[in-house]
Amino acid sequence: MELRDLSDHVEYRAGRGIEEVARELGRDPSDFVKLSSNENPHGPSPKAAVAIREAATEVHRYPKAVHADLTTALADRWDVDDEQVWVANGGDGALDYLARATLDPGDSVLVPSPGFTYYGMSARFHHGDVAEYDVAEGPDGFEMTPEAVLDAYDGERVVYLTSPHNPTGARFTLDEVEAVADRTDDDTLVLVDEAYGEFTETPSAVSLFDDRDDTDEQSSSSNHASRDDVAVLRTFSKAYGLAGIRLGYAVVPESWADAYARVQTPFAASVIACQAGLAALEDDEHVETTTESVEWGRQHVHEHLDAPTYESHGNFVLAKVGDAASVTEAAKREGVLVRDCTSFGLPEHVRITTGTREETERAVAVLNGVLDE
Ligand SMILES: *Cc1c(COP(=O)(O)O)cnc(C)c1O
Repeated sequence: MELRDLSDHVEYRAGRGIEEVARELGRDPSDFVKLSSNENPHGPSPKAAVAIREAATEVHRYPKAVHADLTTALADRWDVDDEQVWVANGGDGALDYLARATLDPGDSVLVPSPGFTYYGMSARFHHGDVAEYDVAEGPDGFEMTPEAVLDAYDGERVVYLTSPHNPTGARFTLDEVEAVADRTDDDTLVLVDEAYGEFTETPSAVSLFDDRDDTDEQSSSSNHASRDDVAVLRTFSKAYGLAGIRLGYAVVPESWADAYARVQTPFAASVIACQAGLAALEDDEHVETTTESVEWGRQHVHEHLDAPTYESHGNFVLAKVGDAASVTEAAKREGVLVRDCTSFGLPEHVRITTGTREETERAVAVLNGVLDE
């Protein structure tokens, strides 16, 4: 038999693991630091690690109760109803659910370029077409503006805003997100991907669900009903250090209350993932350690890397190094893995995830050595 036509589908290319690279170069994995996938260098929350071990004896059961518990904990965290939280197998899984819930065959979506590959992949899986808006380099770095989005906008069904943006580190302010939502059609979903939301001071777009004018007696109720054209994506993969467990979620409008049950893959998140997520949510100390170390790391790269860098709201810094492929390759031979952004369409840039202090210092020193050659 023939598969469906997959020629428009692109492969997701994840950063390569240390083991893989060490084997290729015939070296010891402990020689390498991996700052290429925006993972948490401090590991998972220790509380989550305990919860994962304890979950081992529960895994013969389907994750019904614990899935509900995690949903409730997340709803409390965001001050929304349980029905507004769509738990999924990673943020990527939540992207799929949102595509399933919104796209009819032939609908189009609008994605940032450069940007996160999975948006387009997910839309195509669901028989959608993909158009792009530019995140272009201006005099002050990469510019993400409502105007750039709206110039490219042509009635697409979903508009993806990555804020903070991977790989540039730029962000949309809340007002800018709202401007895009206000100026696109009522039938267009503005999907705000906050995978890096813990690393920025910018408030989450979840607040757009609030009836902002609730207290305004004069406001007519129809104008100020809770927004139903914005959804927010969050993940446990970055700040919480749980990338390997695959846990993420979307926060969606109130009016979508019964849709999740219709689009979710049954038991989207495992018992292990749900228990880990519940424990990680309680572990403020781990998130604080992580975000403080990210702030330090970004500063260190900005100040000490001998290449232009861009302000970042994520746990990484984009740097303009010239020939990204050869710089990445040379750094790899010195034991430092960074992300060559050629596949994002940025052949002169590398993305450096902030590591522990030691790792970040080593990465900057190695890259400076390479850049000096
Ligand atoms: C990491 C990331 C995600 C989510 O990744 P998951 O591991 O699937 O949760 C989503 N969007 C962007 C831009 C990311 O970088």
